[in-house]
Amino acid sequence: MSTTNKIGWIGLGNMGNPMVKNLVKAGFEVTVYNRNPEKSKALQAEVKVEIAASLAELAGSSDFIFTMLSDDAALKEVYQSETGLLAAVQSHKFIAIDMSTVSPETTKILAALCREKGIDYLDAPVSGSVKPAEEAQLIILAGGEEAVYEKAKPMFAAMGKLSTLLGPNGAGNVAKLAINLFLGITAQGLAEAVIFAEKNGIQSSALLPLINAGAVGSGLTKLKTENIVSNNYKAAFALKLLAKDIRLATANGMDTPIGGALSQTLAGAVEKGFGEEDMIAVLRYLKA
Ligand code: NAP
Repeated sequence: MSTTNKIGWIGLGNMGNPMVKNLVKAGFEVTVYNRNPEKSKALQAEVKVEIAASLAELAGSSDFIFTMLSDDAALKEVYQSETGLLAAVQSHKFIAIDMSTVSPETTKILAALCREKGIDYLDAPVSGSVKPAEEAQLIILAGGEEAVYEKAKPMFAAMGKLSTLLGPNGAGNVAKLAINLFLGITAQGLAEAVIFAEKNGIQSSALLPLINAGAVGSGLTKLKTENIVSNNYKAAFALKLLAKDIRLATANGMDTPIGGALSQTLAGAVEKGFGEEDMIAVLRYLKA
């Protein structure tokens, strides 16, 4: 491994883009790959990054490869397809760090496949949305071996305000799903309170500042106030991604009264076409 770590980054969506910018700002040398190459070019126009033409190129030249992809299927494709990372591993080894929200099972499968090729693997999903990503204030929840985590810590420090190793591979994913279960429950709770108030003549613009000033106000209620009041549902965290996380939690044994109701709400919202909107569009769905 070289003394100046070369970082490969795959996935320049809402989260990946600002996370890479913070790595660059911290002085890391980053080469990016995105399925849609336009996003790589747009990023290169803003900050100093190299663009890889293929996943194989990244595998052959990176010390660390980060992934920030939609879901399990995307991550598996990037690792396991014929043109994917695993097929490209030769004598050069990298450390694999997945920051997407995926299932602990997928992490364990990919970590085992990587191990067979001499590649160390960390799951390191994040808590925090686009704004914390932009401000390097993410909370990073890692699973894997301590020695590998220690090597990744300087990069985590460039992207987040806190990182922690929770246990073996998959532990980070479990913690992330637990946090997003609470996130979804909170979002639906907020939506139901707004709907009830409006039905009885109190507008969201009057209610939300009161919620935010009191004990039930939270980072989430404050973050989503502007969206609700101005009826702006452009995705920072797409509703379909939250629905995916609750499906993963359910597949991992989540079987609670509010969790079950949330799961139904999100599935219904996706079915009605709200999947591409922000997760707080659960309000629009419940109002409709
Ligand atoms: P996003 O904006 O939808 O970006 C998804 C990324 O995955 C894009 O770069 C996309 O490439 C890539 N991708 C999807 N399918 C692929 C495939 N089959 N092969 C290769 N690349 C593929 O998602 P995001 O909001 O950045 O979220 C990324 C991950 O972080 C998700 O797991 C999400 O649950 C999690 N997360 C999100 C937030 C949030 O607030 N947004 C917060 C915490 C965690 P293209 O550009 O080519 O489509």
